Amino acid sequence: KFPVPSDIQVSQDIVASPGLLPIADVAKEIGLKDDEVIPWGIAKAKVELKSTLNRLASSPDGNYIVCTGINPTPLGEGKSTTTIGLAQALGAILGKKCVACIRQPSQGPTFGIKGGAAGGGYAQVVPMEEFNLHLTGDIHAITAANNLLAAAIDTRMFHEDSQSDEALYKRLCLATNKPFNAIMKKRLVKLGIDPSKSPEDLTADERSKFARLDFDKSTITWQRVLDTCDRHLRRITVGMGKNETIQPRGTVKGETPREQHNRETGFDITVASEIMAVLALAKDLPDLREKLGNMVVGYSKSGQPITADDLGCGGALTVLMKDALLPTLMQTVERTPVLVHAGPFANIAIGNSSIVADRLALKLVGEDGFVVTEAGFGADIGMEKFFNIKCRESGLKPKCAVIVATVRALKMHGGGPPVSAGKPLAVEYIQEDIPLVTAGCCNLAKHIENAKKFGAEFPICSSRIHKTLPVQVVVAINQFKTDTDAEMQAIRQASLDAGAFDAVVSNHWAEGGKGAEKLAEAVVKACKATNSKEFKFLYDLNLPIREKVEIISKEIYGADGVDFSELAEQQMTQYEASGFGSLPICIAKTQYSFSCDASAKGVPTGFRIFVREIRSCCGGGFLYPICGDIMTIPGLPTRPGFYDVDIDTETGQVIGLF
Ligand code: ADP
Repeated sequence: KFPVPSDIQVSQDIVASPGLLPIADVAKEIGLKDDEVIPWGIAKAKVELKSTLNRLASSPDGNYIVCTGINPTPLGEGKSTTTIGLAQALGAILGKKCVACIRQPSQGPTFGIKGGAAGGGYAQVVPMEEFNLHLTGDIHAITAANNLLAAAIDTRMFHEDSQSDEALYKRLCLATNKPFNAIMKKRLVKLGIDPSKSPEDLTADERSKFARLDFDKSTITWQRVLDTCDRHLRRITVGMGKNETIQPRGTVKGETPREQHNRETGFDITVASEIMAVLALAKDLPDLREKLGNMVVGYSKSGQPITADDLGCGGALTVLMKDALLPTLMQTVERTPVLVHAGPFANIAIGNSSIVADRLALKLVGEDGFVVTEAGFGADIGMEKFFNIKCRESGLKPKCAVIVATVRALKMHGGGPPVSAGKPLAVEYIQEDIPLVTAGCCNLAKHIENAKKFGAEFPICSSRIHKTLPVQVVVAINQFKTDTDAEMQAIRQASLDAGAFDAVVSNHWAEGGKGAEKLAEAVVKACKATNSKEFKFLYDLNLPIREKVEIISKEIYGADGVDFSELAEQQMTQYEASGFGSLPICIAKTQYSFSCDASAKGVPTGFRIFVREIRSCCGGGFLYPICGDIMTIPGLPTRPGFYDVDIDTETGQVIGLF
């Protein structure tokens, strides 16, 4: 249909006619057995993980493709749209087995500024309302689990601050007349106490050590979460109720007044929860259990890390998360399969969908099939974390990186004027301007060169003769209707000069899979010209934290060096002493530039990276240096997206999601 209707209109039109394929049939077509699928209505199904992966254990993996982009601009690049468009072309047009793996979007941006994340135009996941809201409840499960742990922390401190060691121990271990359970035994081992002892047998000293976690309140990093952009929850005080007062431990009733047991804390958006990072990186149920139990929520007064399992909470968290571990199967507008799973923030976490969804998809499509998985933000963040963190954890080797670029966004990197919300686009963006787009291609070229660093030393090719590389780069030029042939040709030439395997104009937004056919053909060829055995990570985990941060900053961002604040220096020492020094690095910085200055477009040079602090995600298994301001719960603008959302009460149809 021309002009292309709004994203929601396209989705609703398709659902009306020709209609969705029943999800059980989508499952069957991709080779899932009936008992491996748990339908959630007509359009969605959870996929059983263990039995499916066991059945397919000896099947070879398909071709693994990551879809990423240039540094984002407010003009939009269309990474999700291209991920889906490419998968439609591979599956529905070229007839390959192909699964797209994408993240579940947060309700915050859906009702805030950004809108949904199902792709767009004729390259999207349908029904987009179901995709964008609730889905199969995974994000709600994370909220529940996260907040159970938050409640466990404050409650434990409440009891510890008012009770003697012996009283605490009695209530924790003796009152129930039960032997130590598995979580308790884990803590006994950590404390060096014989786990075969029964609760009655511990010495007074052992009882104190066991029962008192002794939080240093200033080190507690665990916050409450909500999947809403609610800026007023950023800093809050908890414990203001009249029942949250205590007689401080060691004081006498009547002599010392009771104290309000309160503290300042805050909320993050659910997708920023460490539990979301854990979900994205867990390999299976045992690994999920292990990672959730190992999440460090703060430190004791003697500097010991305190974990979810120290609080006795890891098992309950896993129970709350067990269904969320199963990816959700949906379909594109062209009835090809999509696995939707996890949705971690791309700045403080890896910004990629889950390892389990990718593994499952690679097994389902088999040797000749394709899996297109999306990495959030630009390739400097999303692709780097995909390679260095996600692939390292999963052991999966990608063959091809698709880097999405648009004429408009490259013009901005070439020095085009800023865009303001609500104002018409500057003329530079809607009329042909080859010098401007060519000037911006340096941004794309640097991402192409970066992708090639994940392998044995290869010179950057400047001709069309390609050596087999561990990861081939195909540039997807996502076509907007104002783009001219000469502008797109300029991008293609710059991509080939930078060593891309190919660069292809793709018009999937307007034409669906057919519009991405050439892109899909290029990707198929690129996967054949790959030697993924040569794939290597950019840094060795055993290097000191400082060096790992420096390698990413210099090699990927092009920085001259890194400066660490005093706090970051102390934290590096603490993490290395606590055994977290060999975790991979997940740098939190602006997505809009290679540098930390969001306004520095193109390829900035002559800058240094400043690390303000380094936080840990010990369950997820990475450290995240904070470079610049990061937002862990966004606010709402004056006119949020929700203003336009309503329901047709006659038909029950959702209106105005975008
Ligand atoms: P990203 O993943 O880079 O954030 P999306 O794929 O979510 O971007 O696309 C953002 C919005 O841009 C969607 O509403 C989509 O419909 C629109 N869009 C994407 N590609 C095009 C295009 N070629 N022409 C017009 N609009 C597009």
